[in-house]
Amino acid sequence: LRANFSVIQKETGFVNGLITVLHDITEQEKIEMERREFVSNVSHELRTPLTTMRSYLEALADGAWRDEQIAPTFLNVTQTETERMIRLVNDLLQLSKMDAREYNLNKEFVEFNKFFNRIIDRFEMSKSQNVEFKRYLPENSYFVEIDADKLTQVIDNIISNALKYSPDGGNIRFGVTVQENLIKIMISDDGMGIPKENVGRIFDRFYRVDRARSRAMGGTGLGLAIAKEMIEAHGGHIWAESEEGVGTTVFFTLPFELDEAGEWD
Ligand code: ADP
Repeated sequence: LRANFSVIQKETGFVNGLITVLHDITEQEKIEMERREFVSNVSHELRTPLTTMRSYLEALADGAWRDEQIAPTFLNVTQTETERMIRLVNDLLQLSKMDAREYNLNKEFVEFNKFFNRIIDRFEMSKSQNVEFKRYLPENSYFVEIDADKLTQVIDNIISNALKYSPDGGNIRFGVTVQENLIKIMISDDGMGIPKENVGRIFDRFYRVDRARSRAMGGTGLGLAIAKEMIEAHGGHIWAESEEGVGTTVFFTLPFELDEAGEWD
């Protein structure tokens, strides 16, 4: 339809009115198409765990419940799938609230390094993989006005992904750089990477490079879509750079205010 535009635009003023109409229809159709795709994705994402649960429950009802070895395993599967569905529905509710702008950012001034270090510490304490964390954080204090809970959720999601895709013995690097009136945060891994042509799509709802693998790891495919909404609500941007077989870096920016004393508290 964009091609039609330029052809029509070269014609007389009379047709100009039509251009706007065409544009409106195109936008509406695009929104409608995205909506249909979203509903279809949601249905599919919910049906998969439900059919899995149905077959395991059927097997249990057919007598597997008597088997002391099999029964706990089967129950465990239904539990895992239920938990993933709850996560999915919670993520969907969160996205729908953001779409409807029915949420408030509880903004407060936070010294970013301290805030970031605390999150990294939490992951470093509880990680079970052989992955090394490397921090490249500036010495100065940088104050950002953020909703700390929401930003924590964003960073948790990015770090969880980095860990999920990290090889044994890999590094995860955490960086913060300062550019004029914004800070740029970087989280980088030595994982499998993402094909170049798909790297921009990882922030789309339900987009996954490897659907089966993401599901098997408990992912909903919505984490980065939520992260994008949240960062943009804070006036920042989020993007990724990746090379297959080398690793992935997720970047995001936040506007900041420098504390003149360079101190916190
Ligand atoms: P989920 O992790 O639940 O699948 P996300 O929205 O967090 O959903 O991520 C979307 C997809 O982006 C993932 O399924 C994965 O294919 C890709 N991805 C995200 N982070 C990384 C990473 N660090 N390395 C490789 N692929 C990644």
